[in-house]
Amino acid sequence: MTHQVLARKWRPRTFADVSGQKHVVRALSNALIQERLHHAYLLTGTRGVGKTSLARILAKCLNCEKGLTHEPCLVCSTCQAIEKNEFIDLIEIDAASRSRVEDTRDLLDNVQYMPTIGRYKVYLIDEVHMLSNHSFNALLKTLEEPPAHVVFILATTDPDRLPVTVLSRCLQFQLKAMTSEQIIQRLTTILQSENLAFTNAALATIADAAQGSMRDALSLLDQVIALGSGEVTEQASLDLLGGMSTQAVLALLQALANNEGKHTLEIIQRWLSEGFDFELALDAVINNLHQISVLQLIPDIAELDSCHSLRQSLAEQLTKEQVQLYYQIALYGKRDLPYAPTPRLGFEMTVLRMLAFFPAEKIEGNFKSATTPKPVAENLKPVIPDTTPALIAENLKSAAPDTTPAPIATNLKPAAPDTTPAPIAANLKPIVPADTSPTPLDWVTLLPQLGLQGATKVLAQYCHLKEYDGSTVTFELDPKQGPLLTSISQEKLTTAMSRYFEKTVCVRIEIGQSGLPCPANLAHQQNLATLNQAELSLSNDQSLQSLLKQLNADIEPGSILPKSREEKSQ
Ligand SMILES: [Zn+2]
Repeated sequence: MTHQVLARKWRPRTFADVSGQKHVVRALSNALIQERLHHAYLLTGTRGVGKTSLARILAKCLNCEKGLTHEPCLVCSTCQAIEKNEFIDLIEIDAASRSRVEDTRDLLDNVQYMPTIGRYKVYLIDEVHMLSNHSFNALLKTLEEPPAHVVFILATTDPDRLPVTVLSRCLQFQLKAMTSEQIIQRLTTILQSENLAFTNAALATIADAAQGSMRDALSLLDQVIALGSGEVTEQASLDLLGGMSTQAVLALLQALANNEGKHTLEIIQRWLSEGFDFELALDAVINNLHQISVLQLIPDIAELDSCHSLRQSLAEQLTKEQVQLYYQIALYGKRDLPYAPTPRLGFEMTVLRMLAFFPAEKIEGNFKSATTPKPVAENLKPVIPDTTPALIAENLKSAAPDTTPAPIATNLKPAAPDTTPAPIAANLKPIVPADTSPTPLDWVTLLPQLGLQGATKVLAQYCHLKEYDGSTVTFELDPKQGPLLTSISQEKLTTAMSRYFEKTVCVRIEIGQSGLPCPANLAHQQNLATLNQAELSLSNDQSLQSLLKQLNADIEPGSILPKSREEKSQ
């Protein structure tokens, strides 16, 4: 028996086999039952979600010898021929390789002829966005007046690239990317029918890597089966994908929870020698922190896999705030990973940052400090938990250049009588710089960052920034530009400034004639200077001057234009 790849062998044969696209299946089934057929369908969605499979099923439904149906028989010669890709009235075109107008014309010339065997001639055009403009025009003519015996099924990953004239003549169905659960479910069905042993952890790894594509998932599964000599093991899938086992990741988190800095670095060193991918490692850390957080907050719905007890003990040992903070740090670590000199260093720094933000009270508890407790009244002060990402982000930013001193400083505080850790945000607060007095603003630099549009942008360009006292920005506007000042523009400018400063800022615009420069003036002056320089260098250019002399020509005054900023950057 020849080995058939799973993706082909388990290609869905009927609508019932199609996973994850219930909305499309229901609509198509109903149309078939009620015999209300459209002459052109457009199936869109990312790769590997089943566009062409669905198209072939539809072709079977239209042509099955048992009659028009939403449940093709799969045994008649037509159904069989379609499955073997041998059916003469199903014309499949890959637009990526046949995008020229000649190809499309050849194809469409035959549209007028009746189907040879079936009821309908079905044209399946895959990757239809690749057609040339001329091809689209040729296709459009047919779509406008299609013969009754023809059904077009267009499939594309990129519907935005289709002309609206084509889009408007198709019935469009958006196929969804598969969720990991849907992929795992389908893989489970397949492996059970194939009598192959597997672990759920292995399937989860494959499903995550497939990123919503069932075809990718099946091809990965094929490779894992080959690698695990007929079994689907987590180790084989991890080897294939360069990831690490959940146990390994949880061991790292356990070392973090124990505040064992040296041990965490040893684990990372071992991962390096085993050739792990540190980006995937960070993903795994993020995943597990998420699951630990679920365990802490909504234990009923937590996943019960082989690592459940390890996660459970971490969920008890770490505070909720700690898990949230570590998650946030890991996310930032992932974002910054490409900027680190090496992935290992980026990963290690992320873990060190988690260690640096270890809750102060936990460490104090370990030290069993003997200092006298604080007055009771002070301990009763309400502590408002505040771990919003923005705040954490701000703290991380300000702490980034130097993470060590702050936690140590807080560690030296006398221990409170109760050892429950205060919310992390409260512990982090001392790191925030106290000085928030306004700094002088560079209006020319600030203006483009406000994202202003239209009239508001023009108004802002003609404003000279006089003063910013931390709550009010005062601008001066030349009386000549007075008409630009409307209450709407001023309001929009106020909103943009407040958003920029992340607080309510008052904007005052005074009409005045001090003649101080505004961004618009400055840009104009700069343009003039560039123009003068250009004219000067052209008049000094020997070869240009001799050319002008030969041709007895002059440079037309005003025809020299400085390049705009966009042109220069190209
Ligand atoms: Zn049939």
